[in-house]
Amino acid sequence: MRFLIAIVLFIVSCGPGEKDKSEHYYFKKTAHHPDIHWSYEGATGPEYWGKLSASYRLADTGKKQSPVNIDTSKVVVDNLPELIFRYHSGERPDFINNGHTLQHQQEQDGSEIEVAGKHYQLEQFHLHSPSEHTIDGKHFPIELHMVHKAKDGEVAVLAIFYKAGESSQALNYIASAKLPDKKGNKSVMKQGIRLNDLVPTQPEYYTYSGSFTTPPCTENVKWFVLKQELEADEELLKNLAEILKHNNRPIQDLDGREIHGFGS
Ligand SMILES: [Zn+2]
Repeated sequence: MRFLIAIVLFIVSCGPGEKDKSEHYYFKKTAHHPDIHWSYEGATGPEYWGKLSASYRLADTGKKQSPVNIDTSKVVVDNLPELIFRYHSGERPDFINNGHTLQHQQEQDGSEIEVAGKHYQLEQFHLHSPSEHTIDGKHFPIELHMVHKAKDGEVAVLAIFYKAGESSQALNYIASAKLPDKKGNKSVMKQGIRLNDLVPTQPEYYTYSGSFTTPPCTENVKWFVLKQELEADEELLKNLAEILKHNNRPIQDLDGREIHGFGS
């Protein structure tokens, strides 16, 4: 009992200032996922996530954690199922700066991907800077995560790399409004977004079984890392990097996992 009181006091002592009320999880928080502050640096940074809360322990003990480096010389070439994008357009997205990323919560408008006959509804998308996954050890300026969920609860995340180059339509929509640069701020885009512009035209991918890259680092997430990189204005990428402030989890061990990919 005394121990319990100590825990309660400890939680209370964190105070509203330190207690993070932002959306930590890919999906809505539940009573099973208490709100424990984490960050990308210092005493609440990635190397301590597994110790911050019992519900975050997979960050330390998990054997299928993300992100990973994709060593293209070791990718298992496979006859993989086609990745079909079925994204709708027109929604004026709002982006919230939740203190960890810029995130858009998708309305359930039927936007989905289909792989091997299985359907995954688009739930949200958000950004990391620099990229979380690496290809042969190389980071990209931005990695977009399109997070999907199937009816049976399985999560599938598309990872899309952006590099400086041509001003493509892809991220320009996001640039059309002032990005929320402070935690808790929200901005609504002036124009509708074409979700298809955010993803590559060539749906070739690398795939492996991993985890969320943020606490609670839940496993059995199906990752699809798109091979085709997209380009965006250098200025926009810089602007995003300033807001996102290195929100990439370090590379995790493959622990014997294989990464599968198309032959090239
Ligand atoms: Zn992410």
